[in-house]
Amino acid sequence: MWTPIRYSATKTRTYPEMGGHDFTTLLGDGLELFAGAECVCWGFDWVQIHLCMHCGREGCQMGGYVHVRRARENVLFFPLFDELKERGQFICPPPFMESRGVLFYPPAEYAVLGQVVARLPAANTLEPLELRECARIAKWEVEHVLRGNLDPGTGGEAWDALTVCSPAMWDTFAKLMAQAWDSSEPAILTRLAHTDAEVIRLGAAPWPLLAIEGTRAHLLLSPDWLVANCYVEL
Ligand SMILES: [Zn+2]
Repeated sequence: MWTPIRYSATKTRTYPEMGGHDFTTLLGDGLELFAGAECVCWGFDWVQIHLCMHCGREGCQMGGYVHVRRARENVLFFPLFDELKERGQFICPPPFMESRGVLFYPPAEYAVLGQVVARLPAANTLEPLELRECARIAKWEVEHVLRGNLDPGTGGEAWDALTVCSPAMWDTFAKLMAQAWDSSEPAILTRLAHTDAEVIRLGAAPWPLLAIEGTRAHLLLSPDWLVANCYVEL
């Protein structure tokens, strides 16, 4: 997960015969975050943030789709994991996610984004991030780093590389993933630094995936965020 710090924008217009709308391309830390920032159709479950520069219309070109969710006051942009297998490149995420991962915005940083993206929805109007989405984000980001490419699959060799660890810890992690995988319960995220949890790295995982606090093992969404309501008793 990453949070862009520096923004820059270039403004053009769509073709006159296509309405001649403003069309802003927004770069975050040098990567293209939005193409047609003012043309984005917010408020839907699938949001295309890279739009066709000729017409600015949703669906005219392939890819650039994300879900936008909130976890308390934080906002996340992430791929349409479940739909990717069936629809592939038509709904694939924007290219920046391949190199930097899921977008994560704490409130202050989201407010900054709101200053450069017209009609950006308020965080409290977004649908809550669900536990099942946390499991997919954690898995996708780890697999992505291990494979060095985008793969929305649900298993495979890269994932197997994580199992080269203590069988007890793998078993605990598998229970956490199974618990979260089908759960539509809203996720509660706590910054790892605000806990006393001890982190556990599994096999070849690029960062810890588990955190143990007291008698409970928690799923980690990322190296910095613990999923407070996804845990098993040890
Ligand atoms: Zn078009």
